[in-house]
Amino acid sequence: MESCYDAIIVGAGPAGCAAAAELSRAGRSALLLDRARFPRDKVCGDGLSGAALVSLERLGLLPAVMELSPQPARRVVVSGPNGRVLEHPVPLAAPGVPWGVVVERRRVDHALFLSVSGLPGVDAADGHALTDLAIWQGRVHGVRVQTPGGAEAFVRCRTVIGADGAHSRVAKKLGLASRDPRHRGMAVRAYFTGVSGLSDAIEIHYEKAILPGYGWIFPTGPDTANVGAGYLASRGGNVHLGQLFRLFLENNPHAAEKLAHARMEEGSLRAWPLPLGTAPGRRGTVNALLTGDAAGFVDPLTGEGVWYALESGAMAARAVADALDQDAPQAALMLYERAWRRAFLWREFIPGGVLQRLASKRIFLNHVVDKAAKRRKTRSLLVGAISHQIPKARLFIYH
Ligand SMILES: Cc1cc2nc3c(=O)[nH]c(=O)nc-3n(C[C@H](O)[C@H](O)[C@H](O)COP(=O)(O)OP(=O)(O)OC[C@H]3O[C@@H](n4cnc5c(N)ncnc54)[C@H](O)[C@@H]3O)c2cc1C
Repeated sequence: MESCYDAIIVGAGPAGCAAAAELSRAGRSALLLDRARFPRDKVCGDGLSGAALVSLERLGLLPAVMELSPQPARRVVVSGPNGRVLEHPVPLAAPGVPWGVVVERRRVDHALFLSVSGLPGVDAADGHALTDLAIWQGRVHGVRVQTPGGAEAFVRCRTVIGADGAHSRVAKKLGLASRDPRHRGMAVRAYFTGVSGLSDAIEIHYEKAILPGYGWIFPTGPDTANVGAGYLASRGGNVHLGQLFRLFLENNPHAAEKLAHARMEEGSLRAWPLPLGTAPGRRGTVNALLTGDAAGFVDPLTGEGVWYALESGAMAARAVADALDQDAPQAALMLYERAWRRAFLWREFIPGGVLQRLASKRIFLNHVVDKAAKRRKTRSLLVGAISHQIPKARLFIYH
C-alpha cells in the first residue's frame, strides 16, 4: 500500500473498474476498494449495449468480458400496451464490436475486477468497506476503511472517486445524495431456467397491466433468462415491486408463453433502485467526484446504466489525472462537470426524461409502437436513439 494515493476509488463495479483502468493508463496510483468479495451478485438486467462494449474496448477490458461467452443480443423486440410488436436489428456500435450481449453481472463484474487488479499503479482490495471520508476545509484528505477482519484503517489520497452505486456512502458524506422520487425508479429481476422460445433478441414489453411500468426478458443462454420489471416514472405512491413482477408474468402473453414450463432460481428475485440522470446538480465537490449510479447516471428512458457507469468512471479518472498533472487536484470537479454534461446532459438525460414521462401514457406508447412497427425509418431511429447512436432529441422531430 502507498502512503498517499493519487485517487481512492470506492466501489469496483463497472464505474470503479473503468476509473481504475483509465488512471493506470495515465500513470497514476489508485486504490480500488469494494466492500463485497468478488464474485458477488448484482441486481441488473444483465444487458450490455453495443455502446457499453465499445467503452470496454477503449478501456482494454472487452476481452475479459468476451471470454465469458456472453449471449449475443442481435435484435430487439418491443411490444406496446395494445399488444402490437415491433422487431428490429440492433445497430453495430463500431466495427469489430458485437451488437450487444447479455451476461450475468456476477460474472462480468468479477472478470472486470480481476482484469484491473493486475494493472500498473492499481491496488485492488475487495472485502474492504468505506466507512467515512476525512474532509477538512472542504477537501477530502483520506478515507476510513473497514478491513475484512473488522479493523479500521485510514488511507490518505489526493482525490476520491465515488463509484459505490445507488446507495452511495460517498455521495451521502459529501451531502450530494438525491432522495427525490421524481428522479428515482425501481426494478426487480429474477433468473429463470427451462425458458422456451428464446432467440438472439432482447425483449421489452410495455404490458398494460403494469403501466407505467414495463417488463423485460433477456436471454442469458439457450433456455435461461433474466426476467424483470421496473418503473421509471414517479407513480405518486408506493409500488409493490413483487406484485408488479407477478402481474407482468401472469398478464403478458410473451412472458406467459416463454415461462410456462420455466422455474425461477431460488433466491434470485431481488429489487434495486435506479437513480436517474434527470436529477439536477453537480456530481462532486472540490476533489471528490461521483460516477455511475453513485452520481445518479441511469438512463431515464431505458433504465440502462452500465454504459454511463463505464463512461463516467473513465471521465472522472481523466479529470483527476489532468488536474494532478497541473498540480491542482481542486480543478478535478470543474473538468469532470464539463465532461459529463457535454456527453450526457442534453444528448441523453434531458430528452430521455421528457420521453420517459410521455412513455408513461398508454396512448403515446401505442402510437409510437404502432408507427415503428409499420415504418422501418421510425424503427431504426427509435433503436438508434436507445442504443446511443443517435441523440435522443432527434426523436422529437415527427416522423
Ligand atoms: C433490476 C435492474 C436492471 C438493470 N438492467 C440493466 C441492464 O440490463 N443494462 C444496463 O446497462 N443497466 C442496467 N441496470 C443499471 C445498472 O445495473 C447500473 O447502472 C450499474 O450497475 C451501475 O454501475 P456502478 O459501477 O455505478 O455501480 P454498481 O454496479 O452498483 O457497483 C457499486 C459497487 O460499490 C460497492 N460498494 C457499495 N458501498 C460501498 C462501500 N461503502 N465501500 C466500498 N464499496 C462499496 C458495491 O459492493 C458494488 O460492487 C439495471 C438496474 C436494475 C436495478
